[in-house]
Amino acid sequence: MKELSEGLRQEGYRFTRQRRIILEEVRKQQYHPSAKEIYDAVKIRLPNISLGTVYRGLGVLTELGLIRKVEHGEYARFDANLAEHHHLICTDCDQLLDVDAPLSEPLNTQQFKARGFEVQRYKIELYGLCPTCATERS
Ligand SMILES: [Zn+2]
Ligand SMILES: [Zn+2]
Repeated sequence: MKELSEGLRQEGYRFTRQRRIILEEVRKQQYHPSAKEIYDAVKIRLPNISLGTVYRGLGVLTELGLIRKVEHGEYARFDANLAEHHHLICTDCDQLLDVDAPLSEPLNTQQFKARGFEVQRYKIELYGLCPTCATERS
């Protein structure tokens, strides 16, 4: 974590223990937690932390490119997977899962050239039920 500490200092942010723990908790969760969910997890380790501190910490970590903000549903969610990837989205509980294996890509993006639009990247969202919700329904 030394590099991270340096990066934060260079950007003029203090590398606090709180921010390190926030980052660890985002990295631990596979389902792209919301700020509130990260707060709940961080609170177990830092009982005195406030929701505001977690919000600010997430903002700083996002700005530094250590995590990504995913706009989805009612709340912003946070993603520690920095590689380009697609998401599986559960329509019941709204959790996001990463698509790990490559889909049969590439898409035919050439067609948009005719309209003068050059596609540089794209994101695919697949909607359905996560294992937990699928079990609950059956
Ligand atoms: Zn679900
Ligand atoms: Zn993701």
